[in-house]
Amino acid sequence: MIIKNGNVVLPTKIIKADIRVENGKITEISAYVSPKTDEEVIDASGKTVTSGFVDIHTHGGFGADFMDKSEEAFSKALSFHLSNGTTNVVATSCTAPKSEIVEFLQFCKNYMSRQSGDCKVVGAHVEGPYLSKRNKGAQKEEDLLVPSKDDYSFLLDFADVIKTVTISPELEGAGEMTRQLVEKGIVVSGGHDDGVYPDFMPAIENGLSHLTHLYCAMSELRFVDGVRNVGLREYALLDDRLTAEIIADNKHIPPLLARMIIKAKGSDKVCVVSDSLRCAGMKKDGKVYKLGSGENAQDVIIGDGVATLADSSRFAGSITSVRQMVKNLVDAGIPLADAVRMGTLNPAKVVKIDKAVGSLEVGKLADICILSDGLELVGLICNGKKVI
Ligand SMILES: [Zn+2]
Repeated sequence: MIIKNGNVVLPTKIIKADIRVENGKITEISAYVSPKTDEEVIDASGKTVTSGFVDIHTHGGFGADFMDKSEEAFSKALSFHLSNGTTNVVATSCTAPKSEIVEFLQFCKNYMSRQSGDCKVVGAHVEGPYLSKRNKGAQKEEDLLVPSKDDYSFLLDFADVIKTVTISPELEGAGEMTRQLVEKGIVVSGGHDDGVYPDFMPAIENGLSHLTHLYCAMSELRFVDGVRNVGLREYALLDDRLTAEIIADNKHIPPLLARMIIKAKGSDKVCVVSDSLRCAGMKKDGKVYKLGSGENAQDVIIGDGVATLADSSRFAGSITSVRQMVKNLVDAGIPLADAVRMGTLNPAKVVKIDKAVGSLEVGKLADICILSDGLELVGLICNGKKVI
């Protein structure tokens, strides 16, 4: 297969080029690729061609939550992502009793070993339960735990499935917990926290390297004994060891704030994540949906392009895809190649799958989006197979 004449978005530049796909992989990118006899040619003239998007923080979509732990739920949620050009996701849990998180991780493990769909689950993100009460966000308070008072060995036992664990880094024992998780190859991400500098430094010095939805449910500058202390959201902008997620749906992170974060962190350190809920893709304003699953689920309501808790007190997560967020960033004035990288290669690097996916490069898996002028999805190749 050849994708011809597209404006091909590479990690740092955009070129007019042809892309050859063979046996599921990209085998050639050059100004002109000569078709072999019977080789399928897809005309991408005037179109933008990008890598498939990589979403490292999503709870679900199309009515399903990954915490539903069923084949049907995974397939629904993944089809929401696929319909928006996302080809690799990290399935994310929400705070729940440990037994439920273990069931979720076990389901992910089994699913990953047999999955044959187009959009792939590449691992799990455990968001909570080691979070602060103050910034628990849409997570449930009674399920929150403190690392120093809890046995978190179940996370270490699932190190082959877990890509990321979000913890509140100022909690007692978070530094030691970070050390143990990082030793097992798990990315530790700070968020839903209530710290001020230097409370969170032991975790950062022990390898915490990522930040969960920067600026959302995150500590900020505050007075302590009459002195201003920076919170995690200010410290995040300073420390180059830290990568950061943004929910660029123009609600959680408005365009000006997105520009400020990207200017401060640099476009290589920012990842666009959907943090999408089960109601993503449903588009029914005023309708109530569940965040999470079973008895622990919380009501969230859709209105004005975002999901809020049922009492409207705060945002609960987004209903927007990574592709739409990349478009939002472009509309905010971010260069296209940078915006695309934040939705593809940067997140792939965070969860260490960038050798296989995340950019249009020879040797990588052929997960390729063809986008219109308005960055709508008009064509999709997944694992080298034409899907749209
Ligand atoms: Zn989340």
